[in-house]
Amino acid sequence: MVPIKVHNPVTGELAGTVIPASPSDLASTASRARQAQERWTKLSFRERARFISSFHDRILDRPDPILDTIQLETGKTRRDAFAEVVSVAGTARYYLTHGESILAGRRRRGAVPIVTSSVLEHRPHGVVGLITPWNYPFILSIADALPALLAGNAVVLKPSELTPLSAVLGRELLVESGLDPDLFGIVHGGGDVGGELIRHVDFIGFTGGSTTGRKVAVAAAERLIPCSLELGGKNPMIVLKGASLKNAAIGLLSGAFSNAGQTCISVERVYVEASIFEEFSRMVSEEARKLKLGWSRSWELDMGSLIHSAHADKVMGHIEEAVEGGARVLSGAVRRPDIGPAFVEPTVLTHVSPRASMATQETFGPVISMYPVESVHEAVVMANDTNYGLNASVWAGRSDEAMAVARQIHAGSVGIQSTLMIYNAFDVPMGGMKISGIGRRHGEHGMLRYTQEQSIVTSFSMAGGYDAMLPKIRSQRVADAVLKMVRLWRRIPGLR
Ligand code: NDP
Repeated sequence: MVPIKVHNPVTGELAGTVIPASPSDLASTASRARQAQERWTKLSFRERARFISSFHDRILDRPDPILDTIQLETGKTRRDAFAEVVSVAGTARYYLTHGESILAGRRRRGAVPIVTSSVLEHRPHGVVGLITPWNYPFILSIADALPALLAGNAVVLKPSELTPLSAVLGRELLVESGLDPDLFGIVHGGGDVGGELIRHVDFIGFTGGSTTGRKVAVAAAERLIPCSLELGGKNPMIVLKGASLKNAAIGLLSGAFSNAGQTCISVERVYVEASIFEEFSRMVSEEARKLKLGWSRSWELDMGSLIHSAHADKVMGHIEEAVEGGARVLSGAVRRPDIGPAFVEPTVLTHVSPRASMATQETFGPVISMYPVESVHEAVVMANDTNYGLNASVWAGRSDEAMAVARQIHAGSVGIQSTLMIYNAFDVPMGGMKISGIGRRHGEHGMLRYTQEQSIVTSFSMAGGYDAMLPKIRSQRVADAVLKMVRLWRRIPGLR
């Protein structure tokens, strides 16, 4: 097998190599994972949690090698890499604290009061497959694996072939924390390996673009295995009169330009009430011009590189097409080859045609288009005028006004006075409506997706138990008596 070479997007230097998985490598990784899972699932939650807890402490005690690796293969800033480590630790902390109660069996009502009972339990799927993209190589590969493992599954991960090194390091740290190496397999390669992985697992968790997500859904459907799809976004921000423009500008800069705009929940479209549009767009573009671009271990840099030149070409393509269609540039819209081959300056555009790719497709770069709106209603209509529905953000003077707008937005998450906070609000589910996805990560949903529900119903053996009831109805008189009981049943609150 020809090794996959991983290059630093800024210097072009070789960052590392990984060996692609052949179909037989993949089959044996999945089979070892399956055997390891049979041992793992017999452990109690607390026994499993010991390893994840040790991993949590390890990444916080020694974050630097992780930050270096993330930066090396993505070209992102130290701060953006740091956000990955903090978020993985946060996910571990959340599920270590709440996982046991999320997974606990729950007593439910039986078929017939008093003589029957039901319990709802959660069983692991077995082997969970994860397919992940390049934009957050540590978070998306590791944080999504943690609840799967804690729920009693094995994991086989296919990271992006552009950024496999952070995932490899994350797995190494889990193994150093005591995890059985077979329980967490990694297979390297491109889309073909991702497709092959789906043939070997019991659940597939996919994060990536909506086009690939569709293919993954079809492949999962063919095998009738469940999947979760965390896909792209074209995320709107709404700024209303009365909002603090200073805070909204800070939120927008972070929401649009951190990680060089390569975040699924990044803000890409901004709708601003007309009376504050001039002032707000000027503030935002002035601040965008001040952002420091570059790639180093310095904590001072604000924005790093895009993942590669071809992606920078795509982002510039969206900008150029918008400008040809009449858009005005308030800041950016240029490449910075003096810093690296894939740097694009933070770009603020106005007057973007609603038909431009910039307005309709995910750009996934450091670019926003800003639009004045005449009313709150128009802002909501425009924010919802997209096939995507991942994240949105609302800024208003009053929280009840912001809440009323948030409830009208067709997106899986809405931040009020925040753009990206949803990612670290671990107690609530995060995911997409419309073509932004199916299923949710985080919260109890983010763990229960890795389990199958099993209902255990018990009949107490009084008078032959539940199964003896129907055969006992042998006359109209008995049937009438049963109907009377069923009617009564609705009237007794404790038994309903
Ligand atoms: P892609 O959809 O191109 O790839 C994602 C992963 O799928 C990669 O590992 C890729 O392999 C693999 N893959 C490609 N084709 C197939 C296939 N036919 N079957 C199975 N796997 C396949 O996304 P990108 O890597 O370009 O990532 C960017 C996208 O991810 C953006 O759209 C972004 O919005 C989205 N995203 C969504 C998030 C969310 O939570 N909603 C979070 C982060 C990103 P390889 O690339 O190695 O060839």
